Amino acid sequence: MTLGMVILGRQGSGKGTQAIRIAEQFGVIHISTGDMLRTAVKEGTELGLQAKDLMDAGELVPDSIINGIVQERLQKEDISRSGFLLDGYPRTVGQAIELRKLAHENLKLAINLEVSIKEVTERMISRGREDDTEEAIARRLELYEAETAPLLEWFTEAGILCVVDGLGSETEVYARIVKAVEKAIL
Ligand code: AMP
Repeated sequence: MTLGMVILGRQGSGKGTQAIRIAEQFGVIHISTGDMLRTAVKEGTELGLQAKDLMDAGELVPDSIINGIVQERLQKEDISRSGFLLDGYPRTVGQAIELRKLAHENLKLAINLEVSIKEVTERMISRGREDDTEEAIARRLELYEAETAPLLEWFTEAGILCVVDGLGSETEVYARIVKAVEKAIL
């Protein structure tokens, strides 16, 4: 049995940076659906063409598309050998149901990196990324509350949710996540 984990958190919570470090430390494979989509957009593939406008507008890519990509990735041999840390997936109840089917009992931990709406909005405005228009930021946060926040309850019921305070320096937050992972895999 391998170690499967997911990390949830609002856009701007720092989850991408933390996910890379955690995956490296625990020897699992970091899978970011956002990165996969951005690569597809850059390469101009069919998937990229389907996703680009939705991503720019802060909308979600449909479950039917994203579930297929994740399914394909999780079925690769490296995952059964090393395990995974999913970053940015699942984002809807439909995706969580799909993940349960794909990961079975390998899913051991869901980390929720908690940073308030006010704080993430300030962070995103100050980092000034091109796709961070005010409308797109607001729409992503709205969708997070509507579609992704309900998953917290879902993971609580599954007995695998761990809430980590995302305020503080990167190192402080990292240490909190490491503790949560160690506890989950003991
Ligand atoms: P991220 O880098 O995780 O913030 O993802 C960037 C964008 O890619 C999101 O705003 C969505 O448009 C799209 N995206 C990434 N992951 C998913 C997902 N699991 N479901 C739907 N859309 C996604």
